Amino acid sequence: MSRTIIVSNRLPIKVLRDEANELQFATSEGGLATGLGSVYKQGDNLWIGWPGLAVDNQEEEEIVCDKLKSGNMLPVFLTEEEVHEFYEGFSNETLWPIFHYFSSYANFDEDHWKAYQRVNQKFCDIILSVAKPDDTIWVHDYQLLLVPQMIREQLSEISIGFFQHIPFPSFETFRAIPWRRELLMGLLGADLVGFHTYDDMRHFLSSVSRLAGMKVNQAQVVMGNRTVTVDAFPMGIDFDKYEGMASHPDTLSKEVEFRTSIGKTKMIISIDRLDYSKGIPNRLKAFEQFFELYPQYIGEVSLFMIVVPSRDTVPRYKELKEEIDLAVGRINAKIGTVNWKPIHYFYRSFNIHDLSAFYRMADVALVTPMRDGMNLVAKEYVASKLDNKGVLILSEMAGASKELSDSILINPNDIHSLADAIFEALEMEVEEQKIHMAVMKQTIKRYNIHHWVSLFLEQLEAIKSEQKASG
Ligand code: UDP
Repeated sequence: MSRTIIVSNRLPIKVLRDEANELQFATSEGGLATGLGSVYKQGDNLWIGWPGLAVDNQEEEEIVCDKLKSGNMLPVFLTEEEVHEFYEGFSNETLWPIFHYFSSYANFDEDHWKAYQRVNQKFCDIILSVAKPDDTIWVHDYQLLLVPQMIREQLSEISIGFFQHIPFPSFETFRAIPWRRELLMGLLGADLVGFHTYDDMRHFLSSVSRLAGMKVNQAQVVMGNRTVTVDAFPMGIDFDKYEGMASHPDTLSKEVEFRTSIGKTKMIISIDRLDYSKGIPNRLKAFEQFFELYPQYIGEVSLFMIVVPSRDTVPRYKELKEEIDLAVGRINAKIGTVNWKPIHYFYRSFNIHDLSAFYRMADVALVTPMRDGMNLVAKEYVASKLDNKGVLILSEMAGASKELSDSILINPNDIHSLADAIFEALEMEVEEQKIHMAVMKQTIKRYNIHHWVSLFLEQLEAIKSEQKASG
């Protein structure tokens, strides 16, 4: 029987070591893990990926393998050096900045590139140890761009899908990478390559024709006797989960607790991982300017800014963290009063009930990335608004802006307009808020994560059937 094998850098489970040095297993509750749960947990299907911990002896590897096997998962073990060079190095210091248009942050290191090739081969070898020619392989994201072609070389008939969760940059930006052709050829091993937006897809096709010299016919790349279909699949969220969470008793009691602390102050929220692509410094500048332009709001509204720690051993991220700390401290010291703080800043993660309470309470959500593949926070905010009250301010540089055009769309580089957008959002009549929120909710309810998974797999299946039919 044919199976579906999901492949991603991280497994939907994290192996940790507790204080007694014992292995612990923590399941991921992320949207992707939920959406793909309906796939890899079925029958003999499988999810292959790194379990998130450098395991250094055979005995522990076996314990991890056994535990994961019972959950339909197969680990790819990485050494600390591989994590450093392949993941932190090439993936996060070369591909991540280039793909998010932060070219000047990119580091082109030959050793990191070699490690990236080696680790992609390692993933491929594990896939090949279990895959059969009539299986379907679905590879995820920028850490594994070479894997589709590596599999194709060994199993020429197998069905391979690839989905890119981050943006694909314009040809002019992508061409800066010394190994651009190898990366494109790696992806072109797939039968179906998916992106969040139509723009990402066009950028990819333009790079394919101009840098790899391949013939592009509309949304298909001609590879000799094979074609590669390229399409846009905007990823959704687990709508029911966020909607349900917003009326959960634990969320409601959190809301009471938060409200008791902040009183009648209006609330603006922003929630991101620490990352330069998220536009946090610009957001802070705009918030400061908002009080200069509209001083009547001093003492009336606060920004609750959650920054989730991420990659903070990388120098760029450390610098960003310091820049944010300084800006928050400066703004609070300058505008704050004895009983009011303009910014409540949290550098940690929150549990789902806390997050849901923040979403419920927030009069405005401020989502201002300089560049973002999709941005799920914007969608989670909308799904949590049971009464349809609230306003979303959203960067036009986020993939989500294509679907959520009923938000207030902003250019995150335009600080003055962003300050004005905050004012517009706070002044918006409730009836108007409800109209916009209802439209956005309808979209994300329909195009949820389950819809996204089926759409991608159905299209891959259709391509496979067509290939078989044409012999
Ligand atoms: N999130 C979380 N804990 C937190 C704050 C956020 O799990 O304390 C989640 C949030 O609910 C969202 C995800 O992190 O699902 C962030 O996804 P997004 O697409 O916005 O950005 P990414 O981090 O993937 O770039």
